Amino acid sequence: MVDGRAVATVGSVSRPLQLRFLTSASDAGALPDVGPEVAVVGRSNVGKSSLVNALANQRSLAHVSKTPGRTQLLNLYVHAGGGGLVDLPGYGYAAVPGRTRASWPRMIEGYLLGRARLERVIVLVDGEIGPTRLDLQLLEWVREHGVPHAVVATKHDKVKPSQRPRRAREVAEACLLEPGDVVWVSATTGTGIDELRRLVRLWLAS
Ligand code: GDP
Repeated sequence: MVDGRAVATVGSVSRPLQLRFLTSASDAGALPDVGPEVAVVGRSNVGKSSLVNALANQRSLAHVSKTPGRTQLLNLYVHAGGGGLVDLPGYGYAAVPGRTRASWPRMIEGYLLGRARLERVIVLVDGEIGPTRLDLQLLEWVREHGVPHAVVATKHDKVKPSQRPRRAREVAEACLLEPGDVVWVSATTGTGIDELRRLVRLWLAS
């Protein structure tokens, strides 16, 4: 596991995930079955698109999820090694007001609860600012519903090296996890990208 003590490395040495955009849908039932799936979710601006691009080592793969009309859809990428990755719409200040249970869009709920081959949902939290109230509500919701998940903290490079051990403890504690349970990544420096690729491959091989 990568934790806050990880030393920043420039670039990634492992093979990128070979992802190809297949389709978008507003309803999980309309997505084709491509085998085991890993989904990625987080609030807008958490670094989700940058991370998907880094995992695939492609500059603009995840642009597709940002094109007007698609930002609020489930975007499915097929993985050449089998299975797929689903980019879930980012939640924002207006999109998820109040309590998650009441307001989490039905589309996301339907996806997370209804997808038979969902192996893991990657819940992104911004490592620079720590988990927000909405992130914690989402985590509580996936736990309540027994959805298999992993917490990944983004923007590792934005936390000062001297602050990293403390920040790793704080983020983990806020998420009710041990520091070693949180994977820290940076799309900018490549920190943690190899580790996350390895995990995604493992989950997709399920
Ligand atoms: P999304 O809305 O969750 O898809 O977020 P984006 O991938 O578009 O990223 C939001 C902003 O954060 C952009 O300005 C990115 O350049 C920046 N960003 C994303 N990942 C990183 C990272 O690892 N390090 C730094 N320094 N900035 C990042």
